[in-house]
Amino acid sequence: MTKKSKSRNYTYIPAKTIHLMQSIINEVAPPPLMTVSEWADEYRQIPAEYGADPGKWVSKNYQIPIMDAFTSKGVTKVVAMLGAQLGKSEILFNLLGRYIHLDPCPMLMVQPTVEDSKDFSKERLTPTVDKTPVLASRIHEQKSRNGDNTILKKLFPGGYLALVGSNAPSGLAKRSIRVLVCDEVDRFAPSAGTEGDPVNLAEKRTSNFWNRIIGLFSTPTDATSRIMREYMLGSQEEWRYQCPNCGEWHWITIDDMKFEYDVYEKDGQKSYEVHDVWWICPDCGFSYTEAEVKACKQGYVCLNPGVKTVRSFHVNAFTSPWVHWTEIVKEYLEAKDDEESMKTFVNTRLAQIYNPDVNIKDIEPLLARREP
Ligand SMILES: [Zn+2]
Repeated sequence: MTKKSKSRNYTYIPAKTIHLMQSIINEVAPPPLMTVSEWADEYRQIPAEYGADPGKWVSKNYQIPIMDAFTSKGVTKVVAMLGAQLGKSEILFNLLGRYIHLDPCPMLMVQPTVEDSKDFSKERLTPTVDKTPVLASRIHEQKSRNGDNTILKKLFPGGYLALVGSNAPSGLAKRSIRVLVCDEVDRFAPSAGTEGDPVNLAEKRTSNFWNRIIGLFSTPTDATSRIMREYMLGSQEEWRYQCPNCGEWHWITIDDMKFEYDVYEKDGQKSYEVHDVWWICPDCGFSYTEAEVKACKQGYVCLNPGVKTVRSFHVNAFTSPWVHWTEIVKEYLEAKDDEESMKTFVNTRLAQIYNPDVNIKDIEPLLARREP
């Protein structure tokens, strides 16, 4: 088959008109390739009510790859298994803000319960939107026009954000959405009413969009942990530090810590004062202070590099800029004799699943308890 050449009609457009149109396009068109961290560093403001670091947002090194995975080519899911006090809510907020401003679309955020969603909306979302002009103008402008914005539904030009609880099937089943964010998935209801697994239910809602993106965030719990399972199915990227002496890259854990402390006992209650903490490199045995480790070369080490569509990240509290190691070790000492406290410590500080069997070195008593 031969290709026919078509005759074209060219219309003369004056340069003045072209310049005018270009300036209009530049005015309304967002920078198309801006990542979540770039957006946050440019536009995000932190309300003074938050306490820590109010004012202009500055992305932390371990937060950047998590945020930017959302706009990476070919990625459909981002999983973050995080300890407490690593800025998880902020990462979520930056993600929502970037889409509301630059790439508006239908979005759904699922929290364990409707109450959690209301709290997030009132205590986090509203104050931050008010302080971030590019969001305030979009969400508030819409509000004044139709009065349709509520605590659990935010409308903006080009899309909306619905906030729902994992236990409410009505919130999960109806809509078609492009951006799905599930926060604290390990505390989700096992079933949304009688409809089944809430994460699966919500994920199905994204199937109409070729450019859908799903984010799952949580501290882990126990062997049934959803975030752990999702993490294992992804790229498995651990935040590690390079030992300046031997050059090996390590995940920082309590097992490699040495600490000096005093213990005081009063009325059977022990309290601890931790003076010094060092991390001992398990490869070369050199020891380092917290400040020295935090100044080391650091970054994500990918343990499952074959998986490209699901990026999964793991960071524990030893990386937090807001908690000192002496505090973490003090918590550990206070928790170690009590199973419930230890579970909380392992989940929220070490960001690991709690499995007491793994810690039992002497298995004889366990074997004795076996039944035929
Ligand atoms: Zn070393």
